[in-house]
Amino acid sequence: MNEQTGVQQTWDMVIVGAGPAGLAAALNGRIREKSALILAAGLTPPRLQKAPHVKNYPGFNGITGEDLYERFYRHAQEMGVEFRDERVENIYPGVNFTVVTRGNQIYLGRTVILATGIQQARQLEGEQELVGRGLGYCATCDGPLYRDKDVAVVGETPEAEEEVNFLASIGRNIYYFPLYKGMVKVDRKVDVRRERPQAILGDDRVRAVALPDREIPVDGVFIIRTVAPVERLITGLHQEQGAITVDRTMATNIPCVFAAGDCTGKPYQIGKAVGEGLTAAQSAIHCLDNKPDA
Ligand SMILES: Cc1cc2nc3c(=O)[nH]c(=O)nc-3n(C[C@H](O)[C@H](O)[C@H](O)COP(=O)(O)OP(=O)(O)OC[C@H]3O[C@@H](n4cnc5c(N)ncnc54)[C@H](O)[C@@H]3O)c2cc1C
Repeated sequence: MNEQTGVQQTWDMVIVGAGPAGLAAALNGRIREKSALILAAGLTPPRLQKAPHVKNYPGFNGITGEDLYERFYRHAQEMGVEFRDERVENIYPGVNFTVVTRGNQIYLGRTVILATGIQQARQLEGEQELVGRGLGYCATCDGPLYRDKDVAVVGETPEAEEEVNFLASIGRNIYYFPLYKGMVKVDRKVDVRRERPQAILGDDRVRAVALPDREIPVDGVFIIRTVAPVERLITGLHQEQGAITVDRTMATNIPCVFAAGDCTGKPYQIGKAVGEGLTAAQSAIHCLDNKPDA
């Protein structure tokens, strides 16, 4: 938001993910003088940083993943790509795209490029069936629906504690299942359970959380992960076997939304991610050139 004019900035490209695919997309957008914003969640760093030695990226034989990533990142910075450490929760199409983050920040984009990498989250039994029917991934977004109700939160990361505390301020009984080690700092009212839920139960709506020896009745469940399943980001996004469906231009089934890198499927390799990022950027530019001014 520009504080003087009160007008919110709209970027030509909002890119979700700061791995090789997202960085390649952003810097190719900048080469064509388009504004590019990368939103990437700091808690899920790009996979490339974990590669001990990269031997198949031309010109950089044996470089560590960390060094190669540092070069990619610096290059994008030098080109004027903007970065925000944000976890994207929802993207709403419209004249422009409204991108909402976990902290409820809003960013506007004329086009969107998804470069979210592989989503490795293991789903709980019942999760897929009950999404949107009492099961959600963002308590600060949907929590107000559970005023004076009983809610369970399954947290894979201490980041979830903030959401638990928010629910504690409005809900009745709040159960928290931290799936990580270490101290848990939540409101005293919260019932902290060091158990892994076996399943989320319910037919039309969430009814209970199943533990090995009993059920805890609840009205709602939030699962707070380091990664949000990509199909939750935009309603109606087509996927096949966990990969976003794209054509040769990296276009998804949603107009002006493109995808690149591991999130479009195998092979999971840097060279593919970089090439797809470039193609996605060029396709986004084509989309911008043909879009009526918003
Ligand atoms: C140990 C290891 C060794 C490897 N070695 C090699 C090798 O030698 N050669 C090779 O070619 N490849 C190698 N790879 C694979 C390579 O790292 C990946 O193919 C490449 O990083 C994919 O790039 P990407 O941009 O698609 O995704 P990623 O690098 O996974 O980046 C995904 C980005 O999306 C962000 N993100 C995800 N969801 C959200 C959200 N909701 N909101 C905001 N941000 C989000 C993440 O924070 C991250 O920034 C290796 C991988 C590993 C793990």
